[in-house]
Order: sequence, then structure tokens, then C-alpha cells
Amino acid sequence: MGVAKRSRKPVASDPTRIEKVELHQHVDGSIPVPLTWQLMKRHGLNPVETMTQMEKLLALQNGEEGTLLSYLDKFQYPLWITQFYENIARVVEAIVEEAHQNHVRLLELRYSPIIHTFAGLTLRQTISAALSGINRAKARYPIRAGLIIIAMRQHGPHIAKILARSAVSEGQQFHERTGVIGFDVAGAERGNPPKLFKEAYTIARIGGLGLTIHAGEDEGPHALWQAIDVLGVTRIGHGCSAIRDKALLRRLARDKILIECCITSNYQTGAVKRGRPHPIFTFLEYGIPVAICTDNTTVSGTDQNLENKRLAQRLSVSQLARIHQNAGAFSFIRSGKGEA
Ligand SMILES: [Zn+2]
Repeated sequence: MGVAKRSRKPVASDPTRIEKVELHQHVDGSIPVPLTWQLMKRHGLNPVETMTQMEKLLALQNGEEGTLLSYLDKFQYPLWITQFYENIARVVEAIVEEAHQNHVRLLELRYSPIIHTFAGLTLRQTISAALSGINRAKARYPIRAGLIIIAMRQHGPHIAKILARSAVSEGQQFHERTGVIGFDVAGAERGNPPKLFKEAYTIARIGGLGLTIHAGEDEGPHALWQAIDVLGVTRIGHGCSAIRDKALLRRLARDKILIECCITSNYQTGAVKRGRPHPIFTFLEYGIPVAICTDNTTVSGTDQNLENKRLAQRLSVSQLARIHQNAGAFSFIRSGKGEA
């Protein structure tokens, strides 16, 4: 007992022991490799012979870094298995379990239902499969969790409206257990500006969902201005290009718009150039609320503990703990109903 006690570092010096808040994590990019492998083998879908080879296809490799599009390419293989209700529930349950092991105590997963309908599931069924996975995990672990619905930019504004309606119809206010908590737009950013999705965001807002968007990852500050002024989001995924616009930084601080920062992912997609400091430090200087997020634990080869360890090179553990605590106030999960 004594030995075990001495070997455990106190929270004050160990970033892995902080109670964490994860506000930006994708289901498809976060399925544990052994589970993907197991499900691929079971369905006879494995494109390679070993799990090690499979891991190379699922996780971004050094030579593949540098663009958002090559990063997004990694999402093809997981979609082969996540077209079936039970598989979806199973992978979501495993992701929540893994997050819990990394001391995540509040978890918002995100997921685009329409790319899980290729085998015939309806939008509603794919959403309910993911909710079911979260509920199974919540029955086993003390974790608050909810689901954000994503519309893919490249599918256009009309599909986004349909998804916003589906998301609202599974809103947390209608569920005793986990429900949908928010709405997001993701995918190839260039050529698909936020303003295209105004009506979808109006539907989501009226339906009581929290609003976030992927913006400023592969586009300039104008994308963030649009997201704030036209869509009325209260959180932004990535937002890296905001550092190029001081007026925007002041606006984000003034209106307390939280930036969901995904450090490892941002370097991998080229949103932040290697060797440059991550914008999170500028955001903190300006008093902009931030969350420390993984984006995709499998594609990015990371997890909450690794992200926090990386930041601990410049921030103290108590600063990191405060960031997580403050980020919790920006969660779209409402207490009470949906929090069984
Ligand atoms: Zn993302």
C-alpha cells in the first residue's frame, strides 16, 4: 500500500490525474484500433492482414501530415463497420470507456448520422444507436456524456437542415437518459462558408440545441466572424486563424465564445505550422475561454492525457485543471433530464 501510494504523483504535478472535460471528439476518428480490427475481421472487411498494418491506415502517419483533406481521408475505413446499429453502439461505448480511463468526467462526442446510413439505417436509428452506446457506458462509469450531431459541409445546406431537424427530434429535453445536446458543421472548409448553413443553425437553435462549428481550421478569420455573426454559435471548433485578427480575438473574449482547441490535430492538418506556438496561448492571453480537446484519438494518435502532458510543458497543472473546470461551464449537456 505504502509503495503504491508513494509511486502515485499528486494531482498538482501530474496532468494525467486532472479531471477532464472533453468538448470536441469525433466518434469515427476515435474508435480504438483493436475494436475496429475485431469488427472488420468479424464482417470479413479487413483490407490488410494484420492489426499493425490496419493501424497505419487508421492513424495519420508522419508522411501524411500537412493538409485537412489528407486528415479527413482517414475516416473512410471506420465507416465500413459503423453502418450497423450494434456496431455503432459498441464503438461509442468503447470510446466513452476509454475517455473515462483518461480521467474524462464530462464528454461530448460528435457524429454525423448521414454517413452511417449506407446500409439502410435511418437517420433516427443511427442517432439512437450512438445514444444507446453512451447510455451503456454511463451505466458502468461515472461520466457525464452527450452527443452533438454534425452536418457535413460538402453535403450542402439542404441536408444540413434535415440533420438539424433530426438532431432536434432526439434532443436531450425529450430523453430520460442521453439525448442530442448540440449541432455542428464539419468537413472540407474551403468553398463551404458558414453562412450557407444559417437556416440549419436557426432550426437547431429554436430546437434548444447548443451551437458549435468547425471554423478557422483551413480558412481565415472571416469564417469565424460569419460563424459568430450569422450563425450565432457560442463555441468554435479549432478557430486557429483567429490569431490573425486582433478585433476578432477581442470579440471572442468579450462574448465569451469558447474555442475547442485540438493541439495535436491542428499540427497534423497544417492548421498550425510545425515550430509555431499553438494559438491556445494567445487565446488564454486574451481571456478567451478554451477547452483542451482530442478531436480524434485514433486518427491523431492521442488521448486526453497526452494532450494535457503536451500542454504541461508550458502551462502548470493547476492552470490546466482550471481550463477543464471552466470549459465544463460551456458544455451543452443540461443537468437534470438526460443525466440519469
Ligand atoms: Zn473536429
